[in-house]
Amino acid sequence: MKFRKKPIVIDAEQWFKVTYDSEAGNSIGEVPIYHLDVGYYRTPDLDGKVICAHCSKTMSYHGWMNTLEGGHIVCPGDWIITGIKGEKYPCKPDIFEKTYLDMQLPIGYIILAIVANLIFWLGLIAGGIWLVKKIWFG
Ligand SMILES: [Zn+2]
Repeated sequence: MKFRKKPIVIDAEQWFKVTYDSEAGNSIGEVPIYHLDVGYYRTPDLDGKVICAHCSKTMSYHGWMNTLEGGHIVCPGDWIITGIKGEKYPCKPDIFEKTYLDMQLPIGYIILAIVANLIFWLGLIAGGIWLVKKIWFG
């Protein structure tokens, strides 16, 4: 038998470690987000300068997250998903893009909807006035 996932709405935030680069004098990471669920990645047996096999950035830019299925390394740019039961887990950006659609409406769509609504109601009022005049005055 074949099944299709039910369309569910989830919350997600893209994670980047908030790091201060003392040489460049600015913070690293496009959108630094402080995330309560992601801790610092620390392992005594793995040097922070080791390159990650997933994202090819050094481990010092990574985070660590405890999920229901155990601990996970969080790469910079990974999405932190809050599932339907409130469970949180990381998701790689390429998988995320293939699985989820952005629910946020672009501002242009919202303005268009408001204008279309105004035109509709003005048309309805104008039509009503025209109809009343036609009935009243012939
Ligand atoms: Zn990585």
